[in-house]
Amino acid sequence: MEHRINLDANAGLMPHPQHVARVLEKIKGALNPSSLHRPGQRARALVEEAREAVREFIAAQRGDKIIFTSGATEANSLALYGSNVLQTSSIVSTSIEHHSVLEVLHDLNARGLDVKLAKVTPFGIDLDNLAAQISSTTKFLSVMAANNETGIILPVAKIAELARNVAPKIIVHSDAVQLFGRAKTSIDLLKADLISLSGHKLGAFAGVGCLVAREHVDLTPQVRGGPQEGRMRAGTENLIGIVSMGEAVRELSPKLDQLIAKMRTGRDQLWHEIEKRCPKVERLFNEATTLPNTLSLRFPGSRSDDLLVALDLKGISVSAGSACASGKPEPSHVLLAHQLSHAQAKEVIRISLSGDELPEELVRAAEQIAQCNAANER
Ligand code: PLP
Repeated sequence: MEHRINLDANAGLMPHPQHVARVLEKIKGALNPSSLHRPGQRARALVEEAREAVREFIAAQRGDKIIFTSGATEANSLALYGSNVLQTSSIVSTSIEHHSVLEVLHDLNARGLDVKLAKVTPFGIDLDNLAAQISSTTKFLSVMAANNETGIILPVAKIAELARNVAPKIIVHSDAVQLFGRAKTSIDLLKADLISLSGHKLGAFAGVGCLVAREHVDLTPQVRGGPQEGRMRAGTENLIGIVSMGEAVRELSPKLDQLIAKMRTGRDQLWHEIEKRCPKVERLFNEATTLPNTLSLRFPGSRSDDLLVALDLKGISVSAGSACASGKPEPSHVLLAHQLSHAQAKEVIRISLSGDELPEELVRAAEQIAQCNAANER
């Protein structure tokens, strides 16, 4: 098989073969966790073991709910639709949220809910604008912890404090998908009431995630039926996915510091290699306030979708805009929100590292990026 270099870690990580083997071994002989027979009880024990692994990973308390879902998209939906405060009140969020938040907000707005989206500056979140949107009637705040496209880290704890000063009972949700596994953090550090996580960004299989809700948060289930997940999400549990998520965070914890350092070193090396070969390249956003693994690069005169295809043919995966939006011709809403023009936004590629790249792979990637960019430049 072709040796590919995956520089698209923010879209998802390939589960490590040892991880896959471990998960398959673990679930041997386990059946439906709701069944009372021994294979069912074995499955139940595995689900609860995974829940405890996630609880430990994010440093949640015993009474906090960890509700396994099909991924962060569903977790975001459960947070936004399921928070009972929403029916008669207002909600504040930002214009750079993932589509799984923004689409729900558009829907809630269409149903008559007052939704305000804070603006961002070319460099990050506009805190003054965000503060101006929050009033004593704001009941819900949803702010992502780090942006998947630009790598910008948002000061969720600071924003939560600021919001609680104005609206003490406000519920704070954070789509924390991109921050966990790329920074040392916890639900306490974020000062959030609800956080959404996704398994495949942490080294687990795709198709699993969770919503973490602090004990005091009142949620209404969005999928009704059986009593699974504390009646918060009906349906037979995705045993293999849940076990995979538990194992993934258990594997990640002891190596997180080292992995973050490797991401940073790799990102800096790659930037240096690209910068010296591509004189016109522009690095967007300040590295001090972005994830250690993400580069958002503009290649003036080079359309990013063409560059992506050319690099793909060379065995290198990058992303133009968010992976979820690829295939769509419109420029990314995130880059437009950061005040790039349509033409500029179409010249931006996102490079995101897993931390496992070898220095020689990064040199090869930079060489290919430079070559493909030179051939692509108009
Ligand atoms: N939120 C963010 C910030 C993401 O990056 C993604 C996936 O790219 C999601 C939510 C959706 O996660 P999932 O694929 O688990 O539904």
